[in-house]
Amino acid sequence: MKIKEIYKMFDTIGCCTFATIDGDYPETRIAHFIAYDTDGLYFMTMTTKPFYKQLKETEKVSVCGLSASSNTNIDEHGNLLFEAGYSIRISGDVKEVSMNRIKEKNNPIFDYCIKDNHKYPAMVTFCIFNGRGEVFDYDFEKKFRDHKLERVRFTLGEAEPKKPNLILQKQECIGCGKCFSACSFNAIQKDENSYTIDSTRCDECGDCYLKCPTGAIKIRK
Ligand code: SF4
Ligand code: SF4
Repeated sequence: MKIKEIYKMFDTIGCCTFATIDGDYPETRIAHFIAYDTDGLYFMTMTTKPFYKQLKETEKVSVCGLSASSNTNIDEHGNLLFEAGYSIRISGDVKEVSMNRIKEKNNPIFDYCIKDNHKYPAMVTFCIFNGRGEVFDYDFEKKFRDHKLERVRFTLGEAEPKKPNLILQKQECIGCGKCFSACSFNAIQKDENSYTIDSTRCDECGDCYLKCPTGAIKIRK
């Protein structure tokens, strides 16, 4: 995924949850990205806030947002129904970017940032320059396609993409097909008697893992 698409998906959501570590515990607050360029994704806070202190101390942040109705319904069989939507998240390394550097960029996308700093002088800008994340696009009721999930993993800078958490080891597979029958996400692919997990569709729900008689499906260590 290109950074423009990543930014657009966050920007469509607007306010997202930003998490940092405060000593022993994670701490969250609501904020939003204000710009992007080839260096990364930008957001702002104020030097007087704990958020600022935690960003400076740890130089790390994790951001998550949801673009969907948060309403749920119960169907006639008592099942919980979710409306289709997506969540997007990224965890990565941050650095503070000075206002002089922002101005040097001469990019109109930073106009808001410059204006806000003028209005609130304690306002500062941070950039996620390295990171990895994913889009979790779900349609659990399969209203718009024939499978529930499309998961897209992406990276920024030099980060390595996050690996899928479940692995199917072919040498331990006896081809019984129990994983195929158990998967309601249509994520187990069958090719003659060989089975694989399509990690873009896999929810990591564990149904196949629990059904496999040989332990061929493993949780990544
Ligand atoms: S973990 Fe769940 S979604 Fe993924 S392949 Fe197994 S049963 Fe399907
Ligand atoms: S349930 Fe296990 S042994 Fe059976 S096909 Fe799936 S991975 Fe292979």
